[in-house]
Amino acid sequence: MPSHAEAPPLPEPLRVPVADSHTHLDMQSGTVEEGLAKAASVGVTTVVQVGCDVRGSQWAAETAARYDAVHAAVALHPNEAPRIVHGDPDGWSRQGEREAGGAAALDEALAEIDRLAALPHVKGVGETGLDYFRTGEEGKAAQEHSFRAHIEIAKRHGKALVIHDREAHADVLRVLKEEGAPERTVFHCYSGDAGMAEICARAGYYMSFAGNVTFKNAQNLRDALAVAPLELVLVETDAPFLTPAPYRGRPNAPYLVPVTVRAMAAVRGTDEDTLATALAANTARAFGY
Ligand SMILES: [Zn+2]
Ligand SMILES: [Zn+2]
Repeated sequence: MPSHAEAPPLPEPLRVPVADSHTHLDMQSGTVEEGLAKAASVGVTTVVQVGCDVRGSQWAAETAARYDAVHAAVALHPNEAPRIVHGDPDGWSRQGEREAGGAAALDEALAEIDRLAALPHVKGVGETGLDYFRTGEEGKAAQEHSFRAHIEIAKRHGKALVIHDREAHADVLRVLKEEGAPERTVFHCYSGDAGMAEICARAGYYMSFAGNVTFKNAQNLRDALAVAPLELVLVETDAPFLTPAPYRGRPNAPYLVPVTVRAMAAVRGTDEDTLATALAANTARAFGY
């Protein structure tokens, strides 16, 4: 969860600029201008702003239209879809606001995502996928229905698909195979092991690593990063979440990408500039900008 602790200091700037492939500026403190300027000052010159519900997706699209440095991804988060269907007084992203329940409401929300996905500044459809950590058995059907609908939207509009996969690896891979994955598919906050990285590599799926790759208990992520083909690796913050070590518990933001890039370079035994060059090219290719 975002912390109210002091913001970590500015890292040493990257010599080769990169993109934060997945962030939530609308959940961070300060203005968009401040966040982008701070990021650009350390070589993070592009961000993909990700929407999690209808209003967040509309905001992402508007923000991307306003700033050259921002590209948008639009979706109903995997935890949002069941909430729309069933209604939830303790809504996670709606902060207690109650939405009228029912499958019709989900279809209505999906229609708005479909409309947004057509916009030129919207480069991705997501984050969508499956989350078995926060959504229980009762929400699974709605979640999978929503995931399949997002895959179809991404393919029809020729946009990248941004996957959120939490404790649902096998089912995410199964649904992608059943539906046929879009040409460009990104596993955001990659959370699989080295074996899954090999499966993703064979399928041509991008793997985007977040600050948790620096966590002490995350050797499985470092093992995955070590075997992932360089041309399929991205970096992200998922800010305000997942602040990289040694700043865990403090607020995350795109300007902290260099901390994660350096940790990733160490894992792969490569130099920072080589990795940054690949990350920048990969993100542009994945999102088609
Ligand atoms: Zn996510
Ligand atoms: Zn996210």
